[in-house]
Amino acid sequence: MAIDAPPLPPLSALSLDELRGWMTVRGHPSYRARQVWRHLARGAAFEEMSDLPLELRSQLAASFRPRSLVEVARVEADGGATTKLLYRLDGEATVESVIMRYPRRTSLCISSQVGCPIRCPFCATGQGPFGRNLRPEEIVDQAFDAARRLAAEGRRLSHVVFMGMGEPLANYEAVLRAVRRLVDPLGPGISPRRITVSTSGLVPRIRRLAGEGLPLTLAVSLHAARDELRDVLVPINRRYPLRELVAAADAFAERTGRRVSYEWVLLAGVNDTERDAEELGRLLRGRLAHVNLIPFNPVPDAPFREPAPREVRRFTARLRARGLEVTVRDTRGREGEAACGQLRARTLVDGDEARGLPMRSEVAHTR
Ligand code: SAH
Ligand code: SF4
Repeated sequence: MAIDAPPLPPLSALSLDELRGWMTVRGHPSYRARQVWRHLARGAAFEEMSDLPLELRSQLAASFRPRSLVEVARVEADGGATTKLLYRLDGEATVESVIMRYPRRTSLCISSQVGCPIRCPFCATGQGPFGRNLRPEEIVDQAFDAARRLAAEGRRLSHVVFMGMGEPLANYEAVLRAVRRLVDPLGPGISPRRITVSTSGLVPRIRRLAGEGLPLTLAVSLHAARDELRDVLVPINRRYPLRELVAAADAFAERTGRRVSYEWVLLAGVNDTERDAEELGRLLRGRLAHVNLIPFNPVPDAPFREPAPREVRRFTARLRARGLEVTVRDTRGREGEAACGQLRARTLVDGDEARGLPMRSEVAHTR
């Protein structure tokens, strides 16, 4: 009986030093490592690494696969401005990322875990079982793959947001290694300011992140400004209540000089009332902060509703009247289930990743 050979290790899992060592052992000059490192950041296949000798390319191909994930589904939405990708990792788990093209920037929303242990009741990712932490290469490969697609369009990946699946600070070491690689000038060279780490509020990790010497953008998923409500909407609040969370965010702002962004998913009748505006105003008054309102993106079986546009406008005005700086997130990728957290949920429900999706992407293309 034939036994499947285990897959080759992904080349993207090696550090630059490990890559240098690998080259030296095989008699290649160590500068080859930097060439390969650069190619990886562009998502190149071995045959595309054309400045490497053929022998080296075939040695690499015999020892490694170029990256750790495989695309299994894609949805184009918003007239081609949004691309949602579903990837399979080792062990059959899937994660998603979303490319969002704007006139002057291109942003990628990436995943850090398979599922999420925090289990917020309004979030599609939180509804499924928690799978596992992503490895650093599984995080950066999402960005490298996006960079490859964008280069073919003459675009550069300019921003990365950790707002896909998972709680990035619950997978701290891997996320940090991935971030350091994303900012590497030999790699994609993305400015740390253009990398946003979004967290449900793991207070000790926010404090640790503040000391990493990286001026990242921190987004705190607040959603409620009183503990009683936040305990329900973001269950980690029972461990790290609001007072501690805001103090940690303040410390981050102070250490890094970066304004903290507070995310607020608008749930009709739950956290969009005058009382909520009053509490939020009181909590953030005088802080180096910014509020980003996200109209709830409906999730099957979640007991929440999206507020009407006039309610969104009213809540925005209430916050501004209290001196807060507020933006409303655009609802990118909602058609074709392409908003964050939705593609995987949908394909898992369908039970068919390969068949159902190309059709939907065609529909999105012709819209
Ligand atoms: N776990 C991290 C990052 C991933 S979630 C966090 O919670 O911050 C990224 C953002 O999407 C969070 O602000 C989250 O609250 C929001 N979100 C989750 N489900 C949503 C939904 N159904 N509609 C709108 N925003 C949602
Ligand atoms: Fe996890 Fe963030 Fe979803 Fe909450 S909102 S369940 S923390 S991914």
